[in-house]
Amino acid sequence: MARGKSFFKRITLWRYLFLTVCFIVVVANPFTNYYWNINFIQGWFQSLGVGNLWVVSPLEGLESILTAKSFYMPSLVGMVVPVVLALLMGRVFCSWMCPIEFLSLLTDKVLGLVPKWGRKLKYRKDLVRLAKYTIWFSLVSELLITMIIGYPMFVWWSPPGLVGRETMFYVFYKHITVEAVIVLVVLVLNLITRRMFCRYFCPLGALLALIGKKRQLVIKYDANRCVGCKVCDSRCPMGILPSIGESQSIYCWNCAECVDACPTSALNFVWRDKGIILPTTQRLN
Ligand code: SF4
Ligand code: SF4
Repeated sequence: MARGKSFFKRITLWRYLFLTVCFIVVVANPFTNYYWNINFIQGWFQSLGVGNLWVVSPLEGLESILTAKSFYMPSLVGMVVPVVLALLMGRVFCSWMCPIEFLSLLTDKVLGLVPKWGRKLKYRKDLVRLAKYTIWFSLVSELLITMIIGYPMFVWWSPPGLVGRETMFYVFYKHITVEAVIVLVVLVLNLITRRMFCRYFCPLGALLALIGKKRQLVIKYDANRCVGCKVCDSRCPMGILPSIGESQSIYCWNCAECVDACPTSALNFVWRDKGIILPTTQRLN
């Protein structure tokens, strides 16, 4: 726990809880649909219905438009919530809701429990570092291939989508598909470099980052408070260096790991235009 910060004031605690709730919703949903015929929530993170409100993932929505070459109004309306969220807060779907991030965190925690080498693995250094802009190539390639083959690719291979879809397959048809291996590969990549897929290869993450380039919720670095310990750099799962003021970069996904780790409160969430420091990030001492 960060020094001087009470347990319940840790933003990352709320992030872990929120990720857990989102994961449970997506994984439990096929069971409640199938066994109890409760259909208030339907689908998964590619297209999730809560009552009459349908939320559509912006990348899958965009790919559907590109392949159909027409606008489907319910799909457009469904994209409004995630797009507005990304405009205001950046890539928070990835860090606060995505089932892949939940599974990655869970893997980290479990590995951390292994005697002797578990702790080393938990705070491992990245073995491979690619240029951060690799993620833009991933987005462009994804869209180009989608247009060339005329099929919305990410509907098929989206790792966060697969978590819900494979659960649904298992519940409804008693088997999973070969695509489930994609989720496994993404988790194994984490052992090479933390959040390797999310950092460099996720086209949905790239699209959300692009939408959130001018986001309001950012992490402000205060050089006057910084003592140069670089704990924040070592905690950042995205390979960003908050200690040199990179926390407002387009690649930051607002996970708050650096905010909670900083011993001097040099990093805080702010609402950019207003300059408001969000109260939950202030320390007790
Ligand atoms: S953890 Fe805080 S004090 Fe340490 S380098 Fe980062 S911003 Fe500076
Ligand atoms: S800079 Fe901080 S908030 Fe942004 S990704 Fe890194 S640890 Fe998370």
